[in-house]
Amino acid sequence: MSRIEILGVSFDNVTMDEAVSAAMGIIAEGKRGYVVTPNPEIVMAARENPDLARAVGDASLVLPDGIGVIYGAKILGTPLKEKTPGIDFAARVMERLADRQGSVFLFGAKPGVAEQAGENLREKFPGLVIAGTADGYFDDDTPIIEQINAAKPDLLLVCLGSPKQELWMHQHAGQVQAGLMAGLGGSLDVFAGVVQRAPERWQKLGLEWLYRLLKEPKRIGRMMKLPQFALCAVKERVTGK
Ligand code: UDP
Repeated sequence: MSRIEILGVSFDNVTMDEAVSAAMGIIAEGKRGYVVTPNPEIVMAARENPDLARAVGDASLVLPDGIGVIYGAKILGTPLKEKTPGIDFAARVMERLADRQGSVFLFGAKPGVAEQAGENLREKFPGLVIAGTADGYFDDDTPIIEQINAAKPDLLLVCLGSPKQELWMHQHAGQVQAGLMAGLGGSLDVFAGVVQRAPERWQKLGLEWLYRLLKEPKRIGRMMKLPQFALCAVKERVTGK
């Protein structure tokens, strides 16, 4: 698997199928590790936050979350195979785990959300074991790590938003007994049905970000990182730095 660097973040150049196979391989071989799914906002944040850059750099799998990174890669003249949204990646891995009664632990989001997500996922992927849940608003994570280690899930979804989730996975990688961890932002809200994803047509057109912005206009501040990201990519292509 080759990696392609986009403005300081090295992404795995993989299709969704390859990403899912790689994840299943890590779980099967007991290698442990974690997956990050940076979007342009996270790439830009990592340029200013060395801890985040390190957390992203040490991940076993670095997947381009959205269309923005794919465009950035094109602008830079080093195209990536395809976008691999974290939420779709996680669903595909859970589908595979369900086939062999594998387990997932859901960590993050507001109280009650992970439980609801668990119920929905169990229904969607019969056979999938929900090994435990914990919300993402804690003062002390020691009991949560104990709970995870008692359950030893194949997959741990860490949905604390960025950069919290990347820093958490990096900090606890040696301590958490899960086959694979994945930092997935607001995915539990979507699995729980608390937040709706863009309709498939919007996703196919690469307009999921616009749909989210229309639904949650307060995201505009965060999304202003997008044009900055594109400008940086153009600058690097033109000047070579
Ligand atoms: N969150 C959390 N703990 C925190 C801060 C955020 O569990 O201390 C959760 C929040 O409830 C939401 C997710 O992290 O479910 C972040 O969602 P957001 O939409 O910001 O993430 P994105 O998908 O855009 O990265």
